[in-house]
Amino acid sequence: MLLKVGDRNPLVAFFQFVLKENNYYLGSIDGIFGNQTKEAVISFQKSLNLSQSGIIDDELVKELLPYITVPTSIPYTYEITNIVIQAILYKYNFLQMQNIGKSVMQKDINCIKIGNGTNHVLYVGSTHANEWITTPLLLKFVQDYSDAYSKGENIYDKNSTELFNKTTLYIVPLHNPDGVDLVNEAIDTNSEEYLNAVQISNNYPNIPFPEGWKANILGIDLNLQFPARWNEAKEIKFNQGFISPAPRDYVGVFPLEAPEALALYDFTISNNFRLMNTFHTQGKVIFWKFLNYNPPNSEVIAKEFAKVSGYSLQDTPYASSFAGFKDWFIQNYNLPGYTIECGLGVNPLPIAQFDEIYNDVLGIMVLGIWL
Ligand SMILES: [Zn+2]
Repeated sequence: MLLKVGDRNPLVAFFQFVLKENNYYLGSIDGIFGNQTKEAVISFQKSLNLSQSGIIDDELVKELLPYITVPTSIPYTYEITNIVIQAILYKYNFLQMQNIGKSVMQKDINCIKIGNGTNHVLYVGSTHANEWITTPLLLKFVQDYSDAYSKGENIYDKNSTELFNKTTLYIVPLHNPDGVDLVNEAIDTNSEEYLNAVQISNNYPNIPFPEGWKANILGIDLNLQFPARWNEAKEIKFNQGFISPAPRDYVGVFPLEAPEALALYDFTISNNFRLMNTFHTQGKVIFWKFLNYNPPNSEVIAKEFAKVSGYSLQDTPYASSFAGFKDWFIQNYNLPGYTIECGLGVNPLPIAQFDEIYNDVLGIMVLGIWL
């Protein structure tokens, strides 16, 4: 990685945020690497007795890690997510990270592990590209939980040490890295993948591009890829006109065709999760059912989630009742699985909603590893 004067992208905004947080930068966070940003980099380098190049490279990123807290006011990309994860791992040595697979564009799909209990729980974010706000949501939770644990403090109203010893929590903060990069304009506009996405989008003029994009980079909706009545999902979505790769709602040629869906499936199969939360936006609702399955405790936990968040429990609308990750999890294991639809508005939800969403769902994230 190398950023210098003249560059303009979300990663520049991220470093402006970091430098500003640490009082090296006073300008606006506009994603444009100008002279003021360069001066900020130089003054950071000066304060650490580094050579004053005024550019940001991998070496400098290592030096910056201790100064990075999870940003909650800027767009996220794959690269930003990875640097934030590195920073969290640097600060809290009890965290672990593993790779669970790769995206179409060969980006790592990472999983952070926190806790050492026998109760194993899985949280997933950003399966849908334009719901990327769920990535900082999960990363901030990792940070706050880790911070509480390292200080022996409570998180929400729970003792973090007890949580840590009771549950091993696996968090996949960015399930669809290529899609999120497309939505937040971190994909080379000359690349084959980008041009293909534009072509797909041209077939769906009513869906704004790129901000209406939910799918993976090939136009497959990852939350319609799981073997839970997939044929019914196919019939419904084909009837709605999604018969080929699309910004959303295309089920693919067969279940688990998309590498991102397969990675999550394989990871789930090879573990022993007792509960699963997958974070989406929007609606302030919790989907907790699949057909007539009634996993033990599922309703009790759903009601607790609703109580602490103020979100309402709903049956999934028929048109989106099949082939989702939550659907497959419930069908396969008869264990509690939830889709948490965070926030209200039009996706992508403005990052300005972050604090409200975090406050609403913090209780769900804590109770999910407590109950
Ligand atoms: Zn979604």
